[in-house]
Amino acid sequence: MQEPPPQSGCHDGSEQAFAADRARLVAAIRRMTQDEDGFAPRAVSAQVLAVIGKVPRHRFVPREIRIEAYGNHPLPIGHGQTISQPYIVALMTDLLQLDKRQRVLEVGTGSGYQTAVLAELAGTVFSMEVVAPLAEMAAHTLHELGYGNVTVQAGDGAQGWPEHAPYDGILVTAAAEEVPPALLQQLRPGGRLVIPVGGRFEVQRLLRITRREAGGFEREYIEPVRFVPLV
Ligand code: SAH
Repeated sequence: MQEPPPQSGCHDGSEQAFAADRARLVAAIRRMTQDEDGFAPRAVSAQVLAVIGKVPRHRFVPREIRIEAYGNHPLPIGHGQTISQPYIVALMTDLLQLDKRQRVLEVGTGSGYQTAVLAELAGTVFSMEVVAPLAEMAAHTLHELGYGNVTVQAGDGAQGWPEHAPYDGILVTAAAEEVPPALLQQLRPGGRLVIPVGGRFEVQRLLRITRREAGGFEREYIEPVRFVPLV
């Protein structure tokens, strides 16, 4: 199956052109998980792909690089931070298995793009970002786009956000050396925590930790990833 060619050169910056970019991005993600060599990364549900096809990623990146917004790779968002690769956003979201009754905590709002993806699928999203200007910018973008079920707060998310706990899902978008105990405590029984774990110069491992209804936690290793460090 062939992917439609990228639109370099003839992108007029219209919403229509961005919508076409989004459709190409969804096709690219679907294709990369269908390689038949046995090494393809884990597939993502149709429900999450539909959300990737809907959320305007170009609104979450600096204006100068908007036309690059739909490449399947990370992009700089200022303050030394990046917006994650769309496939990784889709994968991490899918691992939470969200529905509209659920309450989610995100640690590492960044641009707010992942936050918007979560807000499409969950009931309520609480998101914490340690870099205050990023938190402010993300809150502004999310508000402009009409995401009324999201609350962004500037602060250290490694301690979680106990006021709104417990959470059905917790998503950490920066790599921790170890899983922060506060986040495990704030997980509802049956809830899931998705987090990259590993040091700055190590291969990080994307983990999904499920709090068992019967007590205790189950850990699954998903795949190797690369994230900025949790501070
Ligand atoms: N989900 C983001 C990706 C952001 S990169 C997006 O879609 O754009 C990771 C983010 O985590 C950075 O913005 C970084 O500032 C933030 N971060 C790092 N340590 C943190 C901490 N302890 N608490 C909250 N945010 C943190």
